[in-house]
Amino acid sequence: MTSFHTDYSAHVRPIAVVQILSIEQQERAHVDQCCARRQARFVWIYKLETVLKPLIFSALLAGFPFTAIAEPLYPNSVASNDLDFILPDDPGACWSIAASGRGRTEMYDPRRDALFTEGAFHFDVTFPDQRIRINVHPGVGNPQQRAREAAASVSRLPTQMRNALKHVNILDGDGAAWEESLGGFFTLYDELMTRRLAEHDLDETVFHESAHVALDPMFSGDRDWRSSQAKDRDFITQYAADKPNKEDIAESALFVWTMLHHPGRLPADVEAAVRDTIPNRLEYLSNMMKGYEPPSCS
Ligand SMILES: [Zn+2]
Repeated sequence: MTSFHTDYSAHVRPIAVVQILSIEQQERAHVDQCCARRQARFVWIYKLETVLKPLIFSALLAGFPFTAIAEPLYPNSVASNDLDFILPDDPGACWSIAASGRGRTEMYDPRRDALFTEGAFHFDVTFPDQRIRINVHPGVGNPQQRAREAAASVSRLPTQMRNALKHVNILDGDGAAWEESLGGFFTLYDELMTRRLAEHDLDETVFHESAHVALDPMFSGDRDWRSSQAKDRDFITQYAADKPNKEDIAESALFVWTMLHHPGRLPADVEAAVRDTIPNRLEYLSNMMKGYEPPSCS
């Protein structure tokens, strides 16, 4: 876990304005001893501040690049912190699962550069409004259990995000989760699931990959999203900062969703830091996800 700055409000204060005020304060402190020339200088600086202050704030709002003060909160949203964004007993949509055979299946494995897997297990997960196929590699020790674990996490997604999914692939061995938004799917790995479940992060991993599938195509090219990114001046995680076009929505959405629908679940200093670091993206994604109700089975 990375170091965490709790005092972001201090970090985002514009340096240039603070410097001008301190010059002014210095001048005020010495004004009694001043000769007329220094008094004239004080008046000039005071006028300069009066003129510059609004200009500086305008420049800040326009994204002028001289005060990148806030810092990402964590290296990444899912695995580099102990935050519980989604809890195992959070309600999910009703679902049932049924084995539906096995066979040669398109489920790309980047480690082997293999597009098809022979003898993959198929499971159909049925929700009231949707059916999703989960394909499991035959090298996975307990395919049915893995399919059930993945299905449980998918059931806890916001309904609108789940609806964007067509299938989930679970490969053998280990690897980093990845997705293909055009194909409407994401890929997990057997050993990755073991780790994520042990760390209570499988739901967050599924949320992150599903955000790529469901949210990126809608929002990543939106001018309002782009301008929100520019105004905020920093990123929620280093991963988002490193890949702003690819990872920022998925990284930010997990924080926004949690703060929107489970206020107070994240520690107060984390919520405050999110508000300080990405206020415009918080507002943008909150507006976009306002109608995304947490799922329930009732
Ligand atoms: Zn990602």
